[in-house]
Amino acid sequence: MNDDRGRCARSAFLKSTVVAFGTTCATALTGVAWGAGGGPPMEASSPAEALSLLHAGNVRFATGKPQCRPLTARVAELANGQNPFAIVLGCSDSRVPVETVFDQPPGNVFVVRVAGNFLTDAGLGSIEYAVAALKSKLIVVLGHTSCGAVSAAVSYLRDGTRQPGHIQGLVTAIEPAAEAARGMHGDWLENAIAENVKRNVRALSERSTIVRDAAAADALRVVGAVYDLRTGRVAEL
Ligand SMILES: [Zn+2]
Repeated sequence: MNDDRGRCARSAFLKSTVVAFGTTCATALTGVAWGAGGGPPMEASSPAEALSLLHAGNVRFATGKPQCRPLTARVAELANGQNPFAIVLGCSDSRVPVETVFDQPPGNVFVVRVAGNFLTDAGLGSIEYAVAALKSKLIVVLGHTSCGAVSAAVSYLRDGTRQPGHIQGLVTAIEPAAEAARGMHGDWLENAIAENVKRNVRALSERSTIVRDAAAADALRVVGAVYDLRTGRVAEL
């Protein structure tokens, strides 16, 4: 399939693509220029294309046909700047390396990771930077099966199990999603993982004018998804 072929090397078509950004958002972004510009051109020209590129990359990964060599690709090109087409808010879990599961080289995905893949102020600032200054087209909130952080929140609600040190702070952040998933049909943990993703998708628009304006201008799309540790597949929620 064409979609699965050669996504690590930019096509001639995409090389020449000039990406315009929504004026509403651009207006709000005056002064945000830290590190922007330069580098290789963005590989996606729309939110739909960004989603398609990530999907095709995940299919390559899950079927054992990755094409990227992340440690060596595009080093020189990226010295001049970055134009990532997607942003991923993912979990810190070592089993969910974002570029790897989407088969993307350095420069394509702007990644924020925290155990439990929830939105923090610093994470939101990072995401807003990628939307505002780098003009990324897509935000994926990426949960995963068997997430320890979400599991800790479920355990806390089920039997009061507290975590030591700052770890309990992760539980506190995820607790509302876990509580909402209590009593849902099916497995509590699986439902909590999905609910946590959905809530953080909504929170991105609710908390960020930059995200909201870019989405309203069709310059950005926000989606939620869950990575399955057993199959390597990412399923959009
Ligand atoms: Zn996790």
